[in-house]
Amino acid sequence: MTAMPAAFIGHGNPVNALERNRWTEAWRAFGRAVPRPRAVLVVSAHWYVPATAVTAMPRPRTIHDFFGFPRELFEVEYPAPGLPELHEQVADVVAPTRVGADVDSWGLDHGAWSVLRHAFPEADVPVVQLSVDALREPDHHLQLGAALAPLREDGVLVVGSGNVVHNLGAAGRAVPEGGLDWARRFDDAVRECMLTDPAAVTRLDGHPDFGRAVPTPDHFLPLLYLAGMAAASGTTADVLVDGFVHGSLSMASYTVGLPG
Ligand code: ZN
Repeated sequence: MTAMPAAFIGHGNPVNALERNRWTEAWRAFGRAVPRPRAVLVVSAHWYVPATAVTAMPRPRTIHDFFGFPRELFEVEYPAPGLPELHEQVADVVAPTRVGADVDSWGLDHGAWSVLRHAFPEADVPVVQLSVDALREPDHHLQLGAALAPLREDGVLVVGSGNVVHNLGAAGRAVPEGGLDWARRFDDAVRECMLTDPAAVTRLDGHPDFGRAVPTPDHFLPLLYLAGMAAASGTTADVLVDGFVHGSLSMASYTVGLPG
């Protein structure tokens, strides 16, 4: 059995769930290019909590974790089943990191469903979310990603969902396509790492533009899971799609092991 690909998706604005644009088309193409997964394990920026946990309910609810968006977005349901038994498998591979089984608090947040609605529009592939432990350093997240690599051999599609550059305070409407200078510089530095030495992304906290590009870690950390998986497999990542919205939101997405 060939290894399942893995990805980091720059999810951007929640309305991407409803739109068709070059990013969502790339997510669709990704969904069509991968072998049918046994499950999708999503590491979403929006489940950023002081613990490592996976969703373990048979029918995860669709969470609308945002406000100020059109009513249509609040009406989106993504009724994919869960896969409760994946908890045990995740706990095994990441030991000694302890993984909680969440049976009633989370579900699928928009970091997951805004992307999966395009990649797997039928919502017929089981989806499990893995939380991002807010108490841990970047190296820990890289190592967790490396630890998850064996799941790729077992039909699990691991998808990080965040944004390489995510500075909403600097976002403006005047720059719809091109990124701001500092945002582009940091995005380029990440691309260089992902294409040559993925594990080196954890050292980008020393980059002069890091503070502006990553004002909070939540959207950046999911990238480290893909970087860790790539490094564990002795490979590098490929660009799925890139670009910017509002100047300070990178839409860069990366894949590992996607058939050419
Ligand atoms: Zn987000």
